[in-house]
Amino acid sequence: MSEKLHIFVRQADGTEDDITEGVQALYDLVIGSVDWGSGFLSAEDAVPVARLGRLCGFGQVEEAERYLREQQHSEEQMQFIREHREAVEKYRAMSGYGYQVPHDHVFSSAGMCMWPYCPAQQESAASAP
Ligand SMILES: [Zn+2]
Repeated sequence: MSEKLHIFVRQADGTEDDITEGVQALYDLVIGSVDWGSGFLSAEDAVPVARLGRLCGFGQVEEAERYLREQQHSEEQMQFIREHREAVEKYRAMSGYGYQVPHDHVFSSAGMCMWPYCPAQQESAASAP
């Protein structure tokens, strides 16, 4: 395991206490009890949890980050579908025949194409940790 980071709380008088274990325990409790996608944590709630996990190098942070990307993507995808309803309906009808309908990929900020069922991912996002 790499060098462990420590988390301190600074009192008004300047003294500091190491609260790493407490924060880690809370983090593990949250991560361990979360069924991602159950709605237990909203995307907004998950932002600081993922940030904490990433900053402190805690485990399972990838799951929190993947959840966030998926939430963000589905929100933007819904918006995209609303704004391009006719084109998307045409696309859906054609997809019914079981082949990939040619289209220009339109990527959400999560780096995934917003056309329904399209598995395309942006290079940079696909290679991100
Ligand atoms: Zn696409």
